[in-house]
Amino acid sequence: MGGPIDTRINPTTPNELAQSHSLAWFERTVIQRVPAPNPGFMRRVYPGFVQLSGFMTMNLDRHVGAHLRLYHNLLRGDGDSVDQHRAFYDEYRAVMDLPAEYYLQTVQKVFQEHQLAVGTFHHRAGRAARTIFRALGKPGRPMICAIIWAPICGNITKSRTWAITAFSMAGGGGRISPRASRRLSPGMAAENPNDGEQPFWRRKTLAEMTPGEWESLCDGCAKCCLHKLEDIDTGELAFTNVACRLLDLGACSCGNYERRNALVPDCVVLDPQNVSQLYWMPSTCAYRLLAEGKDLPDWHPLVTDDPDSVHRVGISIRGRCVSERHAGPLEHHVLDQEP
Ligand code: SF4
Ligand code: SF4
Repeated sequence: MGGPIDTRINPTTPNELAQSHSLAWFERTVIQRVPAPNPGFMRRVYPGFVQLSGFMTMNLDRHVGAHLRLYHNLLRGDGDSVDQHRAFYDEYRAVMDLPAEYYLQTVQKVFQEHQLAVGTFHHRAGRAARTIFRALGKPGRPMICAIIWAPICGNITKSRTWAITAFSMAGGGGRISPRASRRLSPGMAAENPNDGEQPFWRRKTLAEMTPGEWESLCDGCAKCCLHKLEDIDTGELAFTNVACRLLDLGACSCGNYERRNALVPDCVVLDPQNVSQLYWMPSTCAYRLLAEGKDLPDWHPLVTDDPDSVHRVGISIRGRCVSERHAGPLEHHVLDQEP
């Protein structure tokens, strides 16, 4: 379920609507019966088209602009941007009718009585575990985040409460650019520790490395392009086997490295300053290892002088992940351990 936890904070137009109208008004105004010959004929629902048209009119100028850009991108033959647009709107328009009871309860409990925020929300026999959402999005971004409520009582006590590690469902957090690994420069690995000089990754700090040395550190595992989830109660991090939509699953490299930030805005650019703060980086990542004062493992392409060694030893995610384009809900793809 996605939505704001405390609708009293930074209220939007729908929040104000919920506050200024009675529940009976909502029932009279937006609840409809499913027409024949559709499944659920005569059932009382909050129609999906009402929700969709409400959402779109809230930001009509942005939607019009997006479709104008689509037109220009079609003319320019920019297939990536067109695909991006279509994928977004396919998902955006995938609304469904909600049972009237569910909709009206949500209006009442979440938007009028603020039960999630004040901790009085109940699920069947028990009070729901109130969890404080750790917003990992940027400060100032609206607090609309994926959250799963884990009832204290009931049948799903073992369920876990995950927060998507980045704001956007379309682009989970914690990814950088594995394409760098494809550019292992001949000769870099040839700096032989036995000829008296230490290899550059032992001699230099991350900040002292040249751009070429820095990029050559990436082993090409592509683990950083997997979505990750964070347990919002314990902070525990879990990998999923769902990869960024731009990742070339076979090559384990970014499908559009030059435009990755435009196509996947939350793709994180790693640099010597932020590397030690990116706690979600995989434990095998060369940048993380060096930032922690460790050496490169013996399978690393710089050590083996073979870009494929990361795949041969099974460190990379090649053959072990699915694109977010086809994966469905992330929480169905949680792995027991780092891949
Ligand atoms: S855009 Fe996606 S595939 Fe490319 S580097 Fe970023 S996370 Fe990886
Ligand atoms: S996890 Fe580290 S080593 Fe692996 S692809 Fe990402 S940046 Fe490169």
